[in-house]
Amino acid sequence: MRTLVLSDIHANLAALEVVLADAEGQWERVWFLGDLVGYGPQPNECVERLRALEPLALTGNHDWAVLDKLDVDDFNTEARMVVRWTQRTLTAENRAYLQDLPPRRVAPPFTLAHASPRHPVWEYILDLPTALANFAHFDTACCLVGHTHVPAVFALDEASGEMDFALVEHGDVLDLSRHRLIVNPGGVGQPRDGDPRAAYALLDDEAMTMEFRRVPYDIAATQALMRDLKMPRRLIKRLEQGM
Ligand code: ZN
Repeated sequence: MRTLVLSDIHANLAALEVVLADAEGQWERVWFLGDLVGYGPQPNECVERLRALEPLALTGNHDWAVLDKLDVDDFNTEARMVVRWTQRTLTAENRAYLQDLPPRRVAPPFTLAHASPRHPVWEYILDLPTALANFAHFDTACCLVGHTHVPAVFALDEASGEMDFALVEHGDVLDLSRHRLIVNPGGVGQPRDGDPRAAYALLDDEAMTMEFRRVPYDIAATQALMRDLKMPRRLIKRLEQGM
């Protein structure tokens, strides 16, 4: 079966729409790795658009903050401002949808976690030691994570104990059958690898491959909505920087 793998939409509807258009007709189901809201200007629209796709979905740290399941004081000032605005803006129905999502689940032969399998809400997997420690915290061959907004692959050769790390680019196709893997498709709504295009992946669990894609979207349109809402300038600027 072909799976559309999305993460970190962050209330950026323009980015979500181009991803869905780009992947149209190429998947049978959707997995979402968390952080549907926070940072962006269209939380209700994004919850409703994703929900309609009936995804297997996770919650993320920003979703939890909006639901008061996390202390917003752990966020930086700008992120906190948008969390508060999102709390005031989200409809009761959309809030209820987010409320029921777990931060981690298993869909054999994959584990899905927002941040990491060890600490599914908060931990950033950005280096080899953190990745290595996390391989002991899931039982499937492969774990899909989001949270860093950086498309990347950590591979563990269990026979030799050797680890490998690679950033991935548009068009890269990963063979999922060889090693144990922790894979991040990148972020749809706020990429952070210096490439501002929306990131997502298509997973084929028969061929056992994952294809990484980047799609340009109307960044200025999202920025204009954020400006109208008087959202923090740094958050508006970072969309065009992809950082
Ligand atoms: Zn995020």
